[in-house]
Amino acid sequence: MLWSKPDSCFLDLCKPFGIFRRWHQHQLLAASSLILLVAFAGKPTAADAQPFQAVPVTTTLAIAAPVVPSGGNLGIQSTQNFEQWKADFRKEALAAGVNPSLFDRTFAGITPDMSVIRADRSQPEFSRPVWEYLDGALSALRVRRGQMLLNQYADTLTAIEQRYGVDRRALVAFWGMESNFGSFQGNQSVIRSLATLAYEGRRRGFAHAQLLAALQILQQGDITPEKMLGSWAGAMGQTQFIPTTYNTLAVDFDGDGRRDIWGSPIDALASIAHYLQVSGWQKGQPWGFEVQLPNTFNYSLADGEIRKSVAEWIQLGVKLPNGASVPPGSEQLSAALLLPAGYRGPGFLILDNFRAAFKYNNSSSYALAANLLSERFTGAGQITSEWPKDDLPLNRSERMELQTLLSSHNYDAGNADGIIGTNTRKAIRAAQQSFGWPADGYPTPKLLEGLRNR
Ligand code: CA
Repeated sequence: MLWSKPDSCFLDLCKPFGIFRRWHQHQLLAASSLILLVAFAGKPTAADAQPFQAVPVTTTLAIAAPVVPSGGNLGIQSTQNFEQWKADFRKEALAAGVNPSLFDRTFAGITPDMSVIRADRSQPEFSRPVWEYLDGALSALRVRRGQMLLNQYADTLTAIEQRYGVDRRALVAFWGMESNFGSFQGNQSVIRSLATLAYEGRRRGFAHAQLLAALQILQQGDITPEKMLGSWAGAMGQTQFIPTTYNTLAVDFDGDGRRDIWGSPIDALASIAHYLQVSGWQKGQPWGFEVQLPNTFNYSLADGEIRKSVAEWIQLGVKLPNGASVPPGSEQLSAALLLPAGYRGPGFLILDNFRAAFKYNNSSSYALAANLLSERFTGAGQITSEWPKDDLPLNRSERMELQTLLSSHNYDAGNADGIIGTNTRKAIRAAQQSFGWPADGYPTPKLLEGLRNR
């Protein structure tokens, strides 16, 4: 729910979607002399920053070097200007119904937060391979903790399932993905972060709207300003909701009269359920499953915009590993084919519940991890095919170079912005076909090298 563009837009859901619009951020979390890592497409969750996430960090965690304007002052205008901005915003907030004393108490002593500005301006260079991301997201520790919580909250989860029609293991999985079950919620003042971004951010209008929504939350009495903590971009609490999402979807399920996604696991779980319900969750349906493809397969069908029934995919030669059958009742469900690391890696047929997960966080790797985690709680969710670990993801500069080269060879890749969207994917497929390679639309070092030498 942060705000830079994803570097992969597999599903058409990459477009903003109304009240559920979330923003994306690649955030460089760690840098070492040997390995540079980032969260991949999609917002980094608070839980992404955990040390146990199989991140081979050998140096102190650090935010990526931001693009800093000359002068080295981060382009911050004077404090006077911030005070002026605050005065203007106060007028607007009061006109929107915010109580003046609440506003003044909340904004007392608030100054711009430099760490927020640095994070907002960071342009991570390196992408983390999907298999490394999954290793971290699906750690044995997280699986065990989730299993324990499924037991601990069994009665609550039964009630939430009945109310919202979302499977309990999915709820606990999203809880684990977003905040490591509430233990990593982010510890920055949401008001200060959003005020900083509304005053001096890349998407001021968005932050401005979120800040107003945050004040409304305070005015409703759900939380105090001091306890309204979250990520640098204003993703809050155990669910990592941005304020507008909170206002629309957070629920009080423990009945104390407050929608407490910070301190109440019951409210957090029900709020996640509400989000998934309105995102189209289909109770009892599989999210998808791993598949294997015949050697002669037309890989250009692996495109989020191409959907066929599971039965049609089977007719095209798609098989489940180890001779397994498709989940009962899924033959007529609509599915797309996902190849997260291209044709050399594992493949998945993905159904409606995958798309619901994708709405929670606009990243196919996130959706895959959340759904696999929900299966790991029962010991399932293992991937049988090997990842192509010799095919490291292109970094941002390489992706931009690839786009430039594609366009110069008359495969229109759109703007060379480092984001592998629909246009770039199409251009990659055309180039792959010209080389006589499988046209999976996946950007590889081999393709970049091939175009450099053409
Ligand atoms: Ca409550």
